[in-house]
Amino acid sequence: MDIAELVDLDIAEKAALKGLCYHCLGRQFAKLGHGISNKERGFYLRNALASYVKNKESKQSILQEPSDCWLCENLFDELEKFADLVVKELSPYNYETFLIGSKIDAEIMDREERLWGELGNHHYEPIKAELNREVGKLVGARIKKEVNFEKPDITAVIDTRFDSIELQITPLYIFGRYRKLVRGIPQTRWDCKECWGKGCKKCNNTGKMYETSVEELVAKEVMNAAKGAEHSFHGMGREDIDARMLGNGRPFVLEIKIPIRRQLDMKALEERINAYTEGKVEVFNLRFSSKDEVIAIKEAKVLKTYDVEVKFAKPIKHEKLKEVVRAFKDLVIEQQTPKRVLHRRADKTRRKMVKDIGIEAVEKKGGMFKVISAVLKITGESGIYVKELIHGDEGRTNPSIAGYLNAECDVRRLDVTHIHDENGGKGKW
Ligand SMILES: [Zn+2]
Ligand SMILES: [Zn+2]
Repeated sequence: MDIAELVDLDIAEKAALKGLCYHCLGRQFAKLGHGISNKERGFYLRNALASYVKNKESKQSILQEPSDCWLCENLFDELEKFADLVVKELSPYNYETFLIGSKIDAEIMDREERLWGELGNHHYEPIKAELNREVGKLVGARIKKEVNFEKPDITAVIDTRFDSIELQITPLYIFGRYRKLVRGIPQTRWDCKECWGKGCKKCNNTGKMYETSVEELVAKEVMNAAKGAEHSFHGMGREDIDARMLGNGRPFVLEIKIPIRRQLDMKALEERINAYTEGKVEVFNLRFSSKDEVIAIKEAKVLKTYDVEVKFAKPIKHEKLKEVVRAFKDLVIEQQTPKRVLHRRADKTRRKMVKDIGIEAVEKKGGMFKVISAVLKITGESGIYVKELIHGDEGRTNPSIAGYLNAECDVRRLDVTHIHDENGGKGKW
């Protein structure tokens, strides 16, 4: 196909008379004709114009490519150099896909926009698009990796003014489930309240409220393997520090920022993490994940099942306990923000459903039909405060087990035993 037949040659003449290089001339008609580069387009157009243009003076200046392009100032002579810079910059990293971006001198961009206005032609593409594509081709051929426009592992942004490259490295996301087998560990690091993480006497210069966290335990070996700069931990909710996380484990995504390595063996990684955490935390089902899954995990509203051991201030008739427990099945309770979390959560009332509740075990006193402690199995809606459901939080949770029994209830231990995310956390239950 002849490109000259597709192009309005009067417009092409106007463009050529501006003194454009082959790239810049061809780019004004980038959307016309397939399978050729802008440079080739520009070359064919110049040839076509040589016989089309009647004016002798114009013909003279059109025949030759100008030594200095009015528009790009010969930016396209530097493609190889930009490709060299990008390849060098990428070399420490381990990745599958890449993308080229660019920052181009504002004067060039201005001239380009003025030219579009003057020509009144709509078949152009921006100079950035061509530069990115042409450098991308050169880089791809050298490093034998593919350009990915949607989700590249690394984007290399060329600043053409300073010949500098800025890398934007997509974080590495790893999905897994964790069990927390001991109490007293928060899910994520808590900064020391006194020094805000700087380190002081009170925190033994660690800057932390707790010696470790699920995040720190899990991230240690992943950071070693990926050689990342930082990490963050996205859990599908979180358990209290003094609660264990058992059963099928809690879904999480660990995000590693600026990873140098991203092709990790998940099975080996899982083993190394579990060896490091020494039975405090266990991870399983590790696999690669994405930012989209982080969002899904943060938004998931799933039922959770808990085992809670309750000590009653006075002995309770076993029958009475059974009756009260039955009354809470499928009951919606109102919970004003618990006093213990008021310092970090807004004070408001939430309605939450107790989906299921049953008695797992009881401890009786003196062979009587009186119970002094019990283990309850409770399945509740996402965000329910289980401790408060038991003890009532001085009337802030209503109704409560303590309220119905008319006896003070003390929560002795709490474990999460099942996270009901079987349908991926979509829908309410
Ligand atoms: Zn040019
Ligand atoms: Zn401190």
